[in-house]
Amino acid sequence: MSTIERLARARRALWRATGSALLPPVCCLCGAPGQVPDLDLCDVCTTLLPVLGGSGRGSMRDFGGDTLVRIRTLFLFKYAYPVDHFIRAVKFRGERVFARVLGELLAREHRSRGWELPECIVPMPLHLARLRERGFNQSLEIARFAAASLGARVDSRLLARRIATREQSGLSLESRRKNVRGAFEVVRPLPAGRIALLDDVVTTGSTAMAAIEALRDAGAREVELWAIARVEKSGVDVLEQDANEN
Ligand SMILES: [Zn+2]
Repeated sequence: MSTIERLARARRALWRATGSALLPPVCCLCGAPGQVPDLDLCDVCTTLLPVLGGSGRGSMRDFGGDTLVRIRTLFLFKYAYPVDHFIRAVKFRGERVFARVLGELLAREHRSRGWELPECIVPMPLHLARLRERGFNQSLEIARFAAASLGARVDSRLLARRIATREQSGLSLESRRKNVRGAFEVVRPLPAGRIALLDDVVTTGSTAMAAIEALRDAGAREVELWAIARVEKSGVDVLEQDANEN
């Protein structure tokens, strides 16, 4: 292997491991130059992204009994290639370059909507046992890059997951809701203003709603729910159900 090849390989390894903002963007799918200043996707590969259409992308509504919390959703993609591949690379292999891509895509979408910055971005917490096993929280990794791009603040200690819930996949909607009810707790003083809750993937929305309930009980009145991907399913889910109730 030539010196140049060796250097190129070392640079690529560093880039994959760190998603370093010091390096110019490189498309994580095809290796062509990415989009300056810091999106690691080229123009062509960006057209492959499975963008969510219509109302799936976002809505605004009120939620929850006597004390209402206003929820605005920001969902980017369908859970399909290549986004599912990016999410798994962050979640199971800790490849931060994909966290950088996803964080930057979130930030760009947020900016394009012209929304004011939230008071802080709260990544969906993992239970401590899961965090120890995995070594990192994938939503926090994505949140860091989104926050850096937006100039926002991340607070990964505001919300804690007290109950190690079982895997949600395979459970019915009602079982999912029971499985996560009361799983979250706000453990630090809540800042005034809007909170952005960031989850990597939303399926029925029951986990997100349980976390939002905890934020509401601690005094939050406005929440933005950010998700990289939404699993498209037939049938009613929590987000749609609650939207219909209001
Ligand atoms: Zn590309």
